Amino acid sequence: MRSIAVIGASLAGYSAAQQLRAQGFGGRLVLVGDEVHPPYDRPPLSKDFLLGKVDADALALGEKSDLDDLEAQWLVGDPAVRLSRTDGAVELLSGERVGVDGVVIATGATPRRLPGTEGIAGIHTLRTLDDAARLREQLTSASRVVVIGAGFIGAEVASSCSYLGADVTVVEAAELPLVHALGRSMAAACAELHGDHGVRTRFGVGVAGILSAAGQVTGVRLASGEELPADVVVVGIGVRPNTGWLADSGLTIEDGVRCDAGGITDLPNIAAVGDVAQVHRPHLGYATRTEHWAAATAQPRAAVRNLLAGTTVEHHDDTPYFWSDQYGSRIQFAGSVTPGAQARVVEGDVEDRSFLTHYEHEGRLVAVLAFNQPKAFGRARRQIAKPGLVAA
Ligand SMILES: Cc1cc2nc3c(=O)[nH]c(=O)nc-3n(C[C@H](O)[C@H](O)[C@H](O)COP(=O)(O)OP(=O)(O)OC[C@H]3O[C@@H](n4cnc5c(N)ncnc54)[C@H](O)[C@@H]3O)c2cc1C
Repeated sequence: MRSIAVIGASLAGYSAAQQLRAQGFGGRLVLVGDEVHPPYDRPPLSKDFLLGKVDADALALGEKSDLDDLEAQWLVGDPAVRLSRTDGAVELLSGERVGVDGVVIATGATPRRLPGTEGIAGIHTLRTLDDAARLREQLTSASRVVVIGAGFIGAEVASSCSYLGADVTVVEAAELPLVHALGRSMAAACAELHGDHGVRTRFGVGVAGILSAAGQVTGVRLASGEELPADVVVVGIGVRPNTGWLADSGLTIEDGVRCDAGGITDLPNIAAVGDVAQVHRPHLGYATRTEHWAAATAQPRAAVRNLLAGTTVEHHDDTPYFWSDQYGSRIQFAGSVTPGAQARVVEGDVEDRSFLTHYEHEGRLVAVLAFNQPKAFGRARRQIAKPGLVAA
């Protein structure tokens, strides 16, 4: 392979470019990016950046010299709009065509928006540095903030806003947030963190509408009829993978770009990594997307190896892992909570917000969750059953 384009110049794309060079690819390397910023880290956007503890420079994924070392051509601020099915060329918004032998798709995901809220000032989603800068600018200690969606990003935003002195309410349509990911008892433990810190919650109720006056949000009306006044509304109701530009590619697109267990798509010269990749999981028997930092950095290794080999010779070894920092607590989770798995607190106490939980299924440890127990979590994580192995 003499030329490869990486589409999406952020965490997974940058990691793929590093892997390409580290694994000996000496040909032409092109990075295409929608954003104009050099690759940066997103997790601090809802945490230290929103709190004003770090600035944009501190988020850079690499020094300028690291980027230079890639000896890549950077085409940024110019999104890919099409991947040609006939000749494999990537077309950019500017009209430029990038003709290459191989492609790594790393276009990530975009937050879902509430329909009908376009053009209303004070309504935010949080994915990019620019989103975070806009939100930070608007937050004052007097702000009344409503966070819609109590997943991890919503919870982190609520935590940061409350730390900044804002009056915060979190709204979640599900009876308990994160219940599918963590199971009932542990989802309840996460939900209680809000109340511990004076943040109001409204769970099990949907949003009926956004209230506004003169183009500025003034509140949120719930399906129960309750109206929550707000100067700032943050919508954290999940993301959709950025696959629109692949409509004509002939690749299988479902919830993301369908690929095998080694990150290779329907075509052996096209790989997909990070939040956009829907990866087949042989031990689960189905394909999933992972929206976590660790997967975006781990997947490129095998995907690049397979791309350069021209066939899948290695599977990902990326047991799902994520962390979240909320209200001064570090939450860590690894594994997959399979249907029927039972949660058991094995160290510490939920009441103290310091504990380690095992999820066990048919005698196997399939997942672990920790609150403020990083060492115990690290040990337990290594014991998670790999397919075919039984936990000690
Ligand atoms: C606020 C926030 C906090 C987070 N906190 C945590 C955390 O605490 N722990 C954790 O595990 N994970 C966290 N995550 C998730 C983690 O950051 C993501 O999983 C990771 O960024 C995924 O990397 P990616 O490169 O696949 O996608 P992205 O980071 O989304 O990068 C994709 C890039 O592709 C670009 N792009 C999109 N379409 C095109 C196109 N057509 N052409 C060219 N470029 C395009 C995008 O603009 C973007 O720059 C957080 C995410 C956010 C947003």
